[in-house]
Amino acid sequence: MSRESIAEKGYFGEFGGSFVPAELKEVLDRIGSEFDRYKDDPDFLEEYRYYLKEYVGRENPLTFAENLTDKIGGAKIYLKREDLNHTGAHKINNALGQILLAKRIGAKRIIAETGAGQHGVATATASAMLGLPCTIYMGKVDTERQALNVFRMELLGAEVVAVDKGRGRLKEAVDEAFADLVANQDDTFFLIGSAVGPYPYPEMVKYFQSIISEESKRQILEKEGKLPAAVVACTGGGSNAIGSFANYVADKEVRLIGVEPAEAASISEGVPAEFQGYRSLTLLDEDGNLKPTNSIAAGLDYQGVGPEHSYLHATGRGEYVTATGQEALEAFQQLSKIEGIIPALESSHAVAHAMKLATELDKDDVIIVNLSGRGDKDVHQVFDMLKK
Ligand SMILES: *Cc1c(COP(=O)(O)O)cnc(C)c1O
Repeated sequence: MSRESIAEKGYFGEFGGSFVPAELKEVLDRIGSEFDRYKDDPDFLEEYRYYLKEYVGRENPLTFAENLTDKIGGAKIYLKREDLNHTGAHKINNALGQILLAKRIGAKRIIAETGAGQHGVATATASAMLGLPCTIYMGKVDTERQALNVFRMELLGAEVVAVDKGRGRLKEAVDEAFADLVANQDDTFFLIGSAVGPYPYPEMVKYFQSIISEESKRQILEKEGKLPAAVVACTGGGSNAIGSFANYVADKEVRLIGVEPAEAASISEGVPAEFQGYRSLTLLDEDGNLKPTNSIAAGLDYQGVGPEHSYLHATGRGEYVTATGQEALEAFQQLSKIEGIIPALESSHAVAHAMKLATELDKDDVIIVNLSGRGDKDVHQVFDMLKK
């Protein structure tokens, strides 16, 4: 495949691409070619599916939220239970897939970036199981705020490098990881945690997260004999959302709804910009600097968004709305009380919107909400918010 066609493949309309130094672009294009080679390889797929089943615990259920549906009195709400995966969220689908790919292409070492630590934990988990050493880059400030996740990664055998540069946050961790990749390209694989970054990551992450909608489509056809009226997912970098949407994009009657936190709404309030090696809608102030964000959900607190979401927004195929932290907090409590499921604060944004949407749709309509993760990790934070 020529370099040109590889570069073009990284675009979703005007979004996406690979805006990185030439030496890094060469490494990433090589990963892209290897991904193209393995993504339809039956032997690779069989291995990926084996671990999804035996290690992650898939397929996970599509649960009818009967109590919630009755209470609201509108469309039927189903929950896709990514919260039941090993490690409690969707991130493991992607971490596992990329590490299996890394092994196929001969990598001896995994590196990753992490902000709040959730992607670092998923990466350390899958690396431990598949026997590859792993180094996690994390901003120094983040390591101090998320000391428990640092300890978790260390328990899993990962080396955590606290990056003491700039503001000591996710941006600096990403820069450090790219520098490591360039320096150690012969034996190192960089595992990005969301459907963001330069080519080929948005496409690769979507590929490994598409298992969510592959299962949910089969499950809803079995349970209801028809497609959902809407699929709703919270959108930070956009990996659980793109995986929840992927197998419905061609079904024009299915509404695809991404829910951003009102406090970090890259699509609703962002402008097109090049950021962290890719072009997408990004939260910038008038001077072109990154705008500070302030979501109660660490996994959604990000200025950028995966380029394919910007494209789905631009073409009108996707709808993007916001939910506030307060609305998410209420949904967090409602779902816990009424269904006995404590959702992640990230997922609670999707639940909050689905509860509104249910009242606007018909009673025989079906809504699938992607429950991207479980809320055990957030209980302490919610305790502080509610009891102090
Ligand atoms: C990380 C995370 C998110 C946000 O990431 P996306 O890439 O937007 O999916 C959402 N929910 C949970 C539970 C997470 O851990």
